[in-house]
Amino acid sequence: MNRDAMIAALEDEPQPWDFLVVGGGATGLGTAIEAASRGYRTLLVERSDFAKGTSSRSTKLVHGGVRYLRQGNVSLVIEALRERGLLLKNAPHLVRNLSFVVPNYDWWEGPFYGIGLKMYDLLAGKQGLGRSKVLSRERTLQLLPTIESEGLAGGVIYYDGQFDDARLAVNMAQTAAEQGAVLVNYMEVVGLLHAAGEVRGVQARDAETGVEREIEARVVVNATGAWTDEVRHMDDPAAADMIVPSQGVHIVLERAFLPGESAIMVPKTDDGRVLFAIPWHDRVLVGTTDTPVEDTPLEPRPLEEELAFLLKHAARYLHRDPSREDVRSMFAGLRPLVGGSSDGEAGGTASLSRDHSIVISNSGLVTVAGGKWTTYRRMGEDTVDHAAVVAGLDERASVTRDLHIHGYHNHAEEFGDLWVYGSDAPAIRELMRTDPRYEEPLHPAHAIRSGEVVWAARHEMARTVDDVLARRTRLLLLDARAAMECAPAVAALLAEEIGRGHVWEKEQVDAFRDLALGYLPDPGA
Ligand SMILES: Cc1cc2nc3c(=O)[nH]c(=O)nc-3n(C[C@H](O)[C@H](O)[C@H](O)COP(=O)(O)OP(=O)(O)OC[C@H]3O[C@@H](n4cnc5c(N)ncnc54)[C@H](O)[C@@H]3O)c2cc1C
Repeated sequence: MNRDAMIAALEDEPQPWDFLVVGGGATGLGTAIEAASRGYRTLLVERSDFAKGTSSRSTKLVHGGVRYLRQGNVSLVIEALRERGLLLKNAPHLVRNLSFVVPNYDWWEGPFYGIGLKMYDLLAGKQGLGRSKVLSRERTLQLLPTIESEGLAGGVIYYDGQFDDARLAVNMAQTAAEQGAVLVNYMEVVGLLHAAGEVRGVQARDAETGVEREIEARVVVNATGAWTDEVRHMDDPAAADMIVPSQGVHIVLERAFLPGESAIMVPKTDDGRVLFAIPWHDRVLVGTTDTPVEDTPLEPRPLEEELAFLLKHAARYLHRDPSREDVRSMFAGLRPLVGGSSDGEAGGTASLSRDHSIVISNSGLVTVAGGKWTTYRRMGEDTVDHAAVVAGLDERASVTRDLHIHGYHNHAEEFGDLWVYGSDAPAIRELMRTDPRYEEPLHPAHAIRSGEVVWAARHEMARTVDDVLARRTRLLLLDARAAMECAPAVAALLAEEIGRGHVWEKEQVDAFRDLALGYLPDPGA
């Protein structure tokens, strides 16, 4: 997958395209795979990088959503559990089974959560990942050696899926390309083309060259997440807003804070939220918050009060209280929640629907929003079913239930540090052998090597230092300071690969430094 080749395909392919998908997050990529694998001629454009939006900033769970059960949304849970099973089957190199322990500090919590989680097991049916169980205090302490032991009564264990969100997005883009789709990152939709009152395509601007082009399509799918209403307004300036954005923040701590193999799940914090502490890539991820927001920047920043909330609650459940200095990275994402107006109070969006919605405007713009990462395939399937009718295309059945995602490998752990690349790992190793420079580690404290940057540029359409350090590798999310230290080396390798000069290199390093500072607590606060 190479951007120059994609641009060439974009120029050479006859128009109109059958499907034009706007947005390269989970939803857009899922829709592109779905459309291309049914044989429709498909183009996807993303204004920044694949998964630059919400899809690289999730809690990284492939889950039915235990808390939706509490809200009584059983059908959503069943659907998500089914999709969880499919994702484990089709992308086993990136999705794993993880045990979660709900610690109990009151005698009644064990039986109470035990019953709820039995229900979760039942709904998963044959696709269950393991049976939930009520645990003694001793067993809870064995699984979570650093849990706050004072007042601990016991726990309940259950199982769910965990994944690497941005890596899955990159592999999904590759899957769509293998199915015949053309995908271009750094290509922004700045307007829609209309003829006789119908949407006939888009006006797109190449963010690298500034060149604008008109692209025609039988149907345009708006899959722009938190930015959905921007594109809807290009279609109809008077369209009512659909999205109520809500910010969610995670902090990342050293693994020593939670050294075992199990995650902690707190079903109800003081203000009724769910809180997770999850082992992820040799770190611990603690989150999340749910803060209604007005603005939707591409780089949302965690608020001071969100950081304080997470530190306070982490301290309540962990034996050693983490401080601001312990935060190796923190990141914010915007939930594209559909419908209703928020009451503006903390947690006011927590009860909004997590289901997805498909809306077809009078001019035929198909908008898909909401849902969650876990259900991207189902969202894509529903969207293509609807959009094919809008486009007047012949109906074709979905094949994605059995479609392997690029990188598919059942024993990726045998690739050591390169496991995250799945079946691409041997080729990356081979690439590293071609040049001794590529074997070099980028940072003394991390396994990431120069060859990964080269691979990302050649095969995964990485165009900036941020693309490499935030989404092709996850160093920015794991250790923001180390990521800053690697930036000059990454910029130099990238410049060589994609043909850029020293000025570009310096601009990249400066821009990345500014960005990465936002992933660390403000030392002056
Ligand atoms: C804090 C948090 C935690 C979460 N945790 C989980 C979890 O553990 N499990 C789970 O299943 N789900 C989780 N979710 C939900 C999940 O992350 C989202 O539902 C999903 O990522 C949304 O994907 P999307 O493609 O709709 O949006 P996005 O990923 O935001 O993609 C939209 C894309 O559209 C692009 N775009 C916007 N405007 C234009 C334009 N004009 N032209 C071209 N491109 C454009 C953007 O750049 C962006 O990349 C979480 C969400 C949050 C916020």
